[in-house]
Amino acid sequence: MEQETQELRRVGLKVTHPRMRILQIFDEEEGNHLTAEDVYKKLLAHQEDIGLATVYRVLTQFEAAGIVVKHNFEGGQAVYELDRGKHHDHMIDVDSGKVIEFVSEEIERLQREVAARHGYVIEDHSLVLYVRPKSRGTRKG
Ligand SMILES: [Zn+2]
Repeated sequence: MEQETQELRRVGLKVTHPRMRILQIFDEEEGNHLTAEDVYKKLLAHQEDIGLATVYRVLTQFEAAGIVVKHNFEGGQAVYELDRGKHHDHMIDVDSGKVIEFVSEEIERLQREVAARHGYVIEDHSLVLYVRPKSRGTRKG
């Protein structure tokens, strides 16, 4: 609780019940990428009567305050994750919609080289791989 209160104050948001609870959901699941509906369902599971419209509003406020980052991956709803200030890229499992984080120093370096070759330095980038589980060689039925 204390952690969430401080975080809300730090970014200048008033401490309200929905904001506290939604921030807790993200803190409980560090590294998770949640849609507004995922958050809403988790609140319901905790017997919290916070409507989906409120969830959307709070997430928008969190995004503006830099608490969460919003991603619009292809073929799905927007997902939100805590802004931990560390760069990483994403893979999306196209079958399950699962989001996997990764960091590859080699890819980072290659991107800088490609930009440099064109006379640029990278300001920012986001890389998303749309993936499917590797077949394991055994076929059933
Ligand atoms: Zn992520």
